[in-house]
Amino acid sequence: MSRADYALFCGLMICLVSVLAPSQARPLPGPDVQQIYQRLLPQIEKIPIFDHHAHPGFADDPDVDAMAAPPGSAALRERDSNPELVAAAKAMFGYPYDDLSPEHAKWLVKKKAELKTTRGNAYFSDILDKLNIEQGVANRAMMADYLDPKRFVWVFFADSFMWPLDNQRERSRNGDQEIYIPLQEKMLHRWMQQEGVSKLPANLAEYLVFVSRTLEDNQKKDGIAMKFEVAYFRSTKFSDPTREEAADVYQRFVSGGIPSEQEYRMFQDYMFRYLIGEGGRLHLPVHIHSAVGIGDYFNLSESNILNLENIVRDPRYSNTTFVMIHGGYPYDRQAIWLASAKNAYLDSSETEILLYPAEFSHTLKYWLETFPEKITFGTDAFPYNEVLGAEESYWLGVQSSRTALAAALSEMISMGEVSEAQALHMARGYLHDNAVSLYGGKVH
Ligand SMILES: [Zn+2]
Repeated sequence: MSRADYALFCGLMICLVSVLAPSQARPLPGPDVQQIYQRLLPQIEKIPIFDHHAHPGFADDPDVDAMAAPPGSAALRERDSNPELVAAAKAMFGYPYDDLSPEHAKWLVKKKAELKTTRGNAYFSDILDKLNIEQGVANRAMMADYLDPKRFVWVFFADSFMWPLDNQRERSRNGDQEIYIPLQEKMLHRWMQQEGVSKLPANLAEYLVFVSRTLEDNQKKDGIAMKFEVAYFRSTKFSDPTREEAADVYQRFVSGGIPSEQEYRMFQDYMFRYLIGEGGRLHLPVHIHSAVGIGDYFNLSESNILNLENIVRDPRYSNTTFVMIHGGYPYDRQAIWLASAKNAYLDSSETEILLYPAEFSHTLKYWLETFPEKITFGTDAFPYNEVLGAEESYWLGVQSSRTALAAALSEMISMGEVSEAQALHMARGYLHDNAVSLYGGKVH
């Protein structure tokens, strides 16, 4: 054996040993972690993405969300001053400046307007193409005709069915509710128009028929899931009232009068349970906002994701698929344990934008080490304003998640937790396969 052959032989042996030897996980990454990261990232970038949660649309489109953002305090990375937004504008549109001063930002507004005219319905598909997103959710009040249905699938809002009574007391709770509740009333009214219902039915039985028919019709209009953002409007602690109790409140107040807070909550608790039960019957997955939210009065402890444990683990809803949107942040460590329920999943959208990639990679690593097959990727792209559009937030979500994912997996490989092949399998699961498997062939 020549020296070269010997070196080759030894190289092969080391290779074999590192593949075959039962490895004990180590608490620290080795010096190879950087190299693994450099190797993994380009492979992760090639994985076509399914975006499980986003609000695509133009800033002047009122149907982007069923609610609106009140003035609130934004975390550091979500402020207009984030220099990454310049990088996003450069990457997406060839933005020539190094800041987003009002004068320079005009260039971006003009560029987007030109592309909107020349590209028409392909405008948002082009954004997906640039980021290697194969298909994405459009969580919107109504679908837009400028979103190509081959690339965007609709997730509609179901909260408004919980607010059919006089909402005076609900609205006056605080400044956020003054904005949110009228929008829920508007949404309910639109569902009524869609179903040709001019006046709310006099009893609960008929109201539930209207609600179910709306869900079924939305499903026929290619809605793939229903979404709740109920945490913005009230506590997510749901009691378990009887149908009779809910029917009594509905009947007493449907044509006037203001229910007490306790009466209204009880009715809503019943409606929430009815809706998620219907999600099981119709094979319509249920998306629930489960993290901190915008606004001045968002109540974090009242919307802790663990409040939903009695719902997720209730055998009556074992046919319902739950997707915990935004992964319960900042209770993300506890949240992953809800995903031990066979029908519960965690989506990471918003978390990867609130956190910088270094910190987000810790969240992702913990999730990947716990239930890797139960986590899904989402951008939470949203048109914040004319300059900071859904386009830039798509970029930020995708870049943050790919780099954080490569970092988390590189450490796991380097510390002997998973092989490189297993890591890439996990990456495909998180960015695409896990979410796609929930919709019975309706998405790809
Ligand atoms: Zn969202």
